[in-house]
Amino acid sequence: MKKFWIVFLAIALTISTTACSHKSKSNDAKSETIDTSVASNAKALDAFDGSEEAKQSLAKLLSGNENYMSGNITPNISAALRTDLATNGQHPYAIVITCSDSRVPAELILDSSLGDIFVIRTAGNVVSDFEIGSVEYGAEHLGCPLILVLGHTNCGAVTAATEGGEAGGKIQSIIDEIAPSVQKAKEAGATDVLSKAIELNVMNSINRILTSDVINELIEEEKVAVIGGVYDISTGTITIIE
Ligand SMILES: [Zn+2]
Repeated sequence: MKKFWIVFLAIALTISTTACSHKSKSNDAKSETIDTSVASNAKALDAFDGSEEAKQSLAKLLSGNENYMSGNITPNISAALRTDLATNGQHPYAIVITCSDSRVPAELILDSSLGDIFVIRTAGNVVSDFEIGSVEYGAEHLGCPLILVLGHTNCGAVTAATEGGEAGGKIQSIIDEIAPSVQKAKEAGATDVLSKAIELNVMNSINRILTSDVINELIEEEKVAVIGGVYDISTGTITIIE
């Protein structure tokens, strides 16, 4: 009986050590991903050629995301700020277009307070006339200096387009919008078609925004800049697409 317990304990110990080592390996991989992303964003910020105001806006978004990754977000949702914004109006510093996915709550992952960001969300962060109109409003009337289109890993809409299935109702229109990005990712010989399609789908939405005369004029006047990024739903990092 004693021997049985010794064997049992030895097995239990081995299993728990293996589990711990797996966990620590996966934590190591996560922190490596975060470090890589922070370094690549610093480079992207350096190379960013928008106006000083747009650059400051991007820096603020990225540092908000770093706060989120380290679990230190401090959004101001006070009654005083609410009253101030209601009385004096909003002056958000960025427009963020992202997916409706519940794992991508824009204000939280960017450590944003009331009045900070003007958010547009659709499944697959696809952009049609209503979204372009909203972007125009944010840029022209509210004076936002930066537009960030943010895709995310494991996006269900892009996955559905990658799998090529037929969807019912209006969902098909979303898949049809994303399908060319999937095709391009395949043609480019991407090893990870989904990840590449997620990036290309962000670029496609940016191109949709760039069909707007209002936005083009504001870009020419250096009043607004457009940039793309991908949010990793596992690590919490945003990586700017260069
Ligand atoms: Zn999504």
